Amino acid sequence: MKRLEKIRTALRDVPDFPKPGILFKDITPILSDPLLFGDTIDLMAEMAQGKKIDFVAGIEARGFIFGAALARKLNCGFVPIRKPGKLPYKTYKAEYALEYGTDSIEVHQDAFPKGASVYLADDLLATGGTAAAAAGLIQKCGAEVALIGFLIELSFLQGREKLKENPVRSLITF
Ligand code: AMP
Repeated sequence: MKRLEKIRTALRDVPDFPKPGILFKDITPILSDPLLFGDTIDLMAEMAQGKKIDFVAGIEARGFIFGAALARKLNCGFVPIRKPGKLPYKTYKAEYALEYGTDSIEVHQDAFPKGASVYLADDLLATGGTAAAAAGLIQKCGAEVALIGFLIELSFLQGREKLKENPVRSLITF
């Protein structure tokens, strides 16, 4: 089996989590296997081939796991994009719509030098609201979104529509 197929097969579908009707893509079987985790990071790093990347930004919480490992692999810095109230210094905040209501994320105002080239990483692209808000924060800091990279894309939710102005790549599409 090829590396990508092994990763796809290892993902665990959990029906009705966290609420009825959602088929949750559980990535923990990949994290607990050193070969699969290593291959996932290698392949997510390859998605950025040919691009200059100065920083990887990861979205709390699963984006931290992939983003931090990716930053090491690409030999660049890591910037956490966090849920509200978690970052200690001055922040920019972005709100985005959920199915019911809104949520928000924050980044440190001085997280990136002006013009820095950023790889925004997360585990999964669903409706795209979270990643669109995160990309907006990176731009608000004066940095550029070189790539938005996901391990998984749920293409039927058409999240790419919300990310049209950015280069988007994903390893595995359902
Ligand atoms: P969205 O803003 O709709 O693109 O949602 C993306 C975020 O929600 C990601 O950070 C995912 O971790 C999480 N998420 C959404 N849907 C799922 C799903 N079916 N399985 C696992 N995680 C999901």
